[in-house]
Amino acid sequence: MKGFFPSSRVQRSQPTVGLIPKCGSCGLYKTCQSPKMKPHGKGARSVLVVGEAPGKNEDEEGVPFIGKAGQYLRHELNRLGFNLQRDAITTNSIICRPINNAKPEPKQLDYCRPNLFATIEAHNPNVIVTLGHSALCSVLPSYWKGDIGSMERWAGWKIPLAQHWICPTYHPSFLLRSHNTLLDRAFADHLQVAFEITEPPPPMKDLVTDIDLLYEEKQIYEAIREIDAQGGWAAVDYETNCLKPEYPKAQIVSCAISNSRHTISFPWYGKARQATSLFLRSDRTRKIASNLKFEERWTVQHLGHPVTNWGWDTMLAAHCLDNRPHICSLKFQAFVQLGVSSYNENIEPYLSGTPYNRISEIDLASLLLYGGTDSLLEYKLAMQQRKEMGYED
Ligand code: URA
Repeated sequence: MKGFFPSSRVQRSQPTVGLIPKCGSCGLYKTCQSPKMKPHGKGARSVLVVGEAPGKNEDEEGVPFIGKAGQYLRHELNRLGFNLQRDAITTNSIICRPINNAKPEPKQLDYCRPNLFATIEAHNPNVIVTLGHSALCSVLPSYWKGDIGSMERWAGWKIPLAQHWICPTYHPSFLLRSHNTLLDRAFADHLQVAFEITEPPPPMKDLVTDIDLLYEEKQIYEAIREIDAQGGWAAVDYETNCLKPEYPKAQIVSCAISNSRHTISFPWYGKARQATSLFLRSDRTRKIASNLKFEERWTVQHLGHPVTNWGWDTMLAAHCLDNRPHICSLKFQAFVQLGVSSYNENIEPYLSGTPYNRISEIDLASLLLYGGTDSLLEYKLAMQQRKEMGYED
């Protein structure tokens, strides 16, 4: 068995970027007029705007965002009472003009990323606005280890990372080509939200310090009874060896329960099962899950009764708040809403596979930490979603 948890820390995402300078490796500095364009602007509102690449006009003048797309961006900001030159620092995902304005290749983004992160470090902006897919693919991989997928999935979030908010939106050239007033309105809203931010994200402490891994039956039993006695809300999360509880060798391997004040994660055996069953039948606590039909189905099959008092499903709520595809998973929501990423990248491959996954290869402490983290994030996310929907408790 191996130790899987990468760092035993679950915090707002910090950048991990290979900062070995690779500038010049793409060769574009040889073919453009303004090689290695410097960032521009005074940044009075502590916003860094990251575009794709200098175009023809920018290359001729040595200044970002002065062509058609740049003028559209400047115009929208002026309408909202902001000024690109005064309020922002501007740069691009690659800082030399690509030949024929071609979209930057992934390798070119990689070579130029150290330049971008040097700019981020030098200016330490409260907010990073990424315009379009290239800027997104330049900034995000340092924080988010999953697939990036489409621009549509990211536009409009205000992501709280350790030192900055990241506010992705569309590229103005895309909007100029699209003639879509809904997207134009969304773009203006995204800019307004980003430029109105006045503070960096509030600090968040390491979540792992809040998770108790429990192994002794008596301890588990008492901790569950106490959480139920406290009432209120609690998230429940099973880790299982397959997706369907009806499979012949289906097993729950561990369970985690969090009411945020107390998060426990424990192996599934003996009195731990009994206490969980009592807890899940109690109507004192309102239960939260991410995709609750999963926990419901496993409870019915393995404990012989349904869950009493389901109160919230973070997956359903995410969908009600925003019905775009590929955004409802706990992993994505924990990142865009809470700024937490990368706590599960080593574990996840062992939890997929059909019909059975490879959960037994994960060491128990890492599995419990993973489950505990999930339940705590579910709780936190549920509370944030409820607030956003206007619920008061
Ligand atoms: N001008 C830039 O500098 N970058 C863009 O992405 C578009 C226009």
